Amino acid sequence: MVPDFPIFLSLLNEKNMIKIKRFSYNLFQTNTYVLYDETNECIIIDAGMEGPMEEKEIENYITANHLKPVLLVNTHGHIDHILGNNFMVQKYRLKLAAHKDTEPIISRAPVYAQTFGIIIENPKSIDIFLDEKSEVKFGNSKLKVLFTPGHADGSLCFYSPKDKFIIVGDVLFYQSIGRTDLPTGNYEVLQKSIWEKLFTLPDETVVFPGHGPETTISYEKINNPFVAIGS
Ligand SMILES: [Zn+2]
Ligand SMILES: [Zn+2]
Repeated sequence: MVPDFPIFLSLLNEKNMIKIKRFSYNLFQTNTYVLYDETNECIIIDAGMEGPMEEKEIENYITANHLKPVLLVNTHGHIDHILGNNFMVQKYRLKLAAHKDTEPIISRAPVYAQTFGIIIENPKSIDIFLDEKSEVKFGNSKLKVLFTPGHADGSLCFYSPKDKFIIVGDVLFYQSIGRTDLPTGNYEVLQKSIWEKLFTLPDETVVFPGHGPETTISYEKINNPFVAIGS
């Protein structure tokens, strides 16, 4: 397999480590992540695939790597992150896990999607509510759940202290942060989430955002113009 991330070149060959595959989907270029370990059980974080071609791409990857999807997780309920929920749930008979505050956003998705000319019918409701007391488990692996509102109500991040990475949705990006001008967005709350939940993680933690390339906590502390140190 060709590694997606140069940063993981040496690590990808190690056993007992979570492997991460990224797909970039739909007109918003949303990152969908497939996480799996040595057992080949996998979870999907943010199913953004839209249409048969994008659906086929992830299906082929799962088949070719003999993966067994066990759970679908949403970082938050924005339409670009849930477009493929119904496909993944039906194809692999998955349960959907997310924060309870994400449920109203998902139920409004069909109306909101129309403003972008996107059709979402009967969006999958949440089966398993996650909060900071929860863990997301697959195979021999587990992820901590961090509650990080500010970009959208119910935003969650998924953290592996052992493998030193975090999936952050639209909370933090390479040299940027999530929008706060959408419904349920709040700039002060977002800054608090970033400073108290993300910037307290070890510097070397690799950050996988909902859009764009990966980064690290230390890189963003120093270089992110939207998260000014001392502000
Ligand atoms: Zn979003
Ligand atoms: Zn997004």
